[in-house]
Amino acid sequence: EDRLISAETQTGDVRDRALRPLAFDDFVGQATAIANLKVYVAAARRRGEPLDHLLLSGPPGLGKTTLSQIVARELGVNFRSTSGPIISKAGDLAALLTNLEPNDVLFIDEIHRLNPVVEEVLYPAMEDFELDLIIGDGPAARSIKIDIAPFTLIGATTRAGLLATPLRDRFGIPVRLEFYDVNDLTHIVTRAAGKLDMNMTADGAREIARRARGTPRVAGRLLRRVRDLSEHAGHAVVDVAAADAALKRLGVDDIGLDKQDMRYLHALCEMFGGGPTGADTLAAALSEARDALEDVIEPYLIQQGFLQRTPRGRVATPRAYAHLGLNAPVKAPP
Ligand code: ADP
Repeated sequence: EDRLISAETQTGDVRDRALRPLAFDDFVGQATAIANLKVYVAAARRRGEPLDHLLLSGPPGLGKTTLSQIVARELGVNFRSTSGPIISKAGDLAALLTNLEPNDVLFIDEIHRLNPVVEEVLYPAMEDFELDLIIGDGPAARSIKIDIAPFTLIGATTRAGLLATPLRDRFGIPVRLEFYDVNDLTHIVTRAAGKLDMNMTADGAREIARRARGTPRVAGRLLRRVRDLSEHAGHAVVDVAAADAALKRLGVDDIGLDKQDMRYLHALCEMFGGGPTGADTLAAALSEARDALEDVIEPYLIQQGFLQRTPRGRVATPRAYAHLGLNAPVKAPP
């Protein structure tokens, strides 16, 4: 199902490859992370060594893949890409690793979903650039060691907390990407509109940015839909009114929440009295996968102060009730 606002990749997104930033200096936002990475990349280049293994974490659509490609490009090495759930056997990973050239980047998306057997292959590879392989089985089985080229592993994950500790500990550079502020997103939208040859006012761009859930991927998607709808409505210029009309039509509310966010808040506030409610219960009530709730819906609601994750479950804040136009229940003090 195509949720307009979802931060997951959708088919139409392929087109925005053309909009992807290609160098550190084109990458808007995440200033601290970028400043540090520039230093580490320059040092690795100077020494002719691979960059330390890098772990990028944060909600989907914030630029983990984009940044990984930029790092490889800035290092001047090849970028090889795969994802955790795709690598089913130890041999698949071994094949990838033995094909790397010195200092290449191997990107593993959704690295928290690696099979533990595959993970075991990764440890000696990351630490000593060595593979420990078992050849044959039964009494004839023997273990052999193979040297591989020094490389940089870049792992991307929406949930660093789900990574096995030995894996997490092998990343020298952990970087957490944060939601983007409205100024950064405005910058991203303005630049993308320029590349799409759109005629858009500054406050039109800002309106899309403000309602993009802090997420560049969502901003790009909203921009393309606004462009379609504005063209259809015959607006020569996308100003704030045109952007607002299009976004309303797309079911994106004034602060950027979509129908799914609202369903979530309604369920929590009305079916469950504001919580605390367990994630599994909420997922069942909404017929959603728990992962989708935790990775896509909740992080933004938490960041915006609508929701708290407590040890006893999810709790709606007074701001959530206010946004729904409901009175917050008066709760007895604990
Ligand atoms: P992730 O891997 O974290 O899910 P991606 O790297 O695929 O996210 O980015 C999603 C989309 O947002 C891409 O189309 C990319 O071009 C765009 N994007 C992400 N970060 C930025 C940024 N800082 N500046 C401009 N565009 C960005």
